[in-house]
Amino acid sequence: MSLEDDLKARIRQTGPLTVAEYMNECLLHPLHGYYMTRDPLGASGDFTTAPEISQMFGELLGLSLAQSWLDQGRPTPFTLAELGPGRGTLIADVMRATRGVPGFHDAARILLLEASPTLRRTQSATLQQYEPDWINQIEDLPEQPLFLIANEFFDALPIRQFVRSGAGWCEKQIGVLEDVLAFGLGAEALQPALEPRLADTRDGDLVEICDAALPYCLTVAARIAQHGGAALIVDYGDWHSLGDTLQALRGHASAEVLSAPGTADLTAHVDFESLAHKAAAAGATFTRLTPQGIFLERLGITDRARSLAAGLQGDALEDLIAAHRRLTHPEEMGQLFKVLGLYPDGTSPPPGLEA
Ligand code: SAH
Repeated sequence: MSLEDDLKARIRQTGPLTVAEYMNECLLHPLHGYYMTRDPLGASGDFTTAPEISQMFGELLGLSLAQSWLDQGRPTPFTLAELGPGRGTLIADVMRATRGVPGFHDAARILLLEASPTLRRTQSATLQQYEPDWINQIEDLPEQPLFLIANEFFDALPIRQFVRSGAGWCEKQIGVLEDVLAFGLGAEALQPALEPRLADTRDGDLVEICDAALPYCLTVAARIAQHGGAALIVDYGDWHSLGDTLQALRGHASAEVLSAPGTADLTAHVDFESLAHKAAAAGATFTRLTPQGIFLERLGITDRARSLAAGLQGDALEDLIAAHRRLTHPEEMGQLFKVLGLYPDGTSPPPGLEA
């Protein structure tokens, strides 16, 4: 049975699915889920990410975290964690770049949170020499200082969508129409969680909420507030989201959200304001939301590119120039992708970000 047939049967039995339920099944269904069955990254996959574009990305994030670790008095031991580590490329670049930071490697215990068995195997192979461990739920982060990276993790978490109707909201749902999966709207209802959005929306506007982000924000922020550390959260999105940002990607091209469920990546833009406020509620301080291009420039990506370029020529040099542009240029990833830092009250923000 395909996931599509499975979902149709379920909808016929128990009624329409929320967008979050649909995303969850498409991405994480144990047999058919998109992340459960494949390695989606790279040229042969469906999308690529900053660490897969260039080693410079992970190196600079690693140096920012390591400087925070130094600034906070080299807490030992500490957790070095990544949420959704993909192929493990980012952490490998972090570790290579921080080899020269005295004591950092000895004090770090690497912990990875990864839902996909396929990607866990890849991570295990890439990171073998650093002896990483995996956790199954965020609450398992140890009670010790935490330095954490999440790149393109929060966009993969399921969102719910609501369409404004007077003082109430109709939830967007997925049902079956003439044997085909189709979007529809649920009954109008008041939504206390969306109360603040009544001020900046009008009838017919669509807003998204990501309940699934809450436990990640709360636990990460709580560890940082209580034990020290810092988090760098990188993703596409903005301070305040409005409108339908749910998208499907297959083979590097956009696809229909409801066609062939489980075979395309499904993501939504990240509402950084809500992440920041959840983190603040758990006691951490947050930085200004900063475009990725500006963040990487402040950390010296152009100098790093120049020094790498010195040893290259021909195609390899062209590739490096293209990667630098792709990561930083406002028309590429530089402006769409943003960085939010979390850190303890009374310490300085991670380098590259401002209070
Ligand atoms: N950070 C990596 C990969 C980003 S793709 C990079 O920048 O290249 C998203 C990653 O998050 C994948 O590793 C995916 O398997 C993982 N992931 C998605 N949803 C998850 C969930 N609910 N729990 C744990 N991991 C998840």
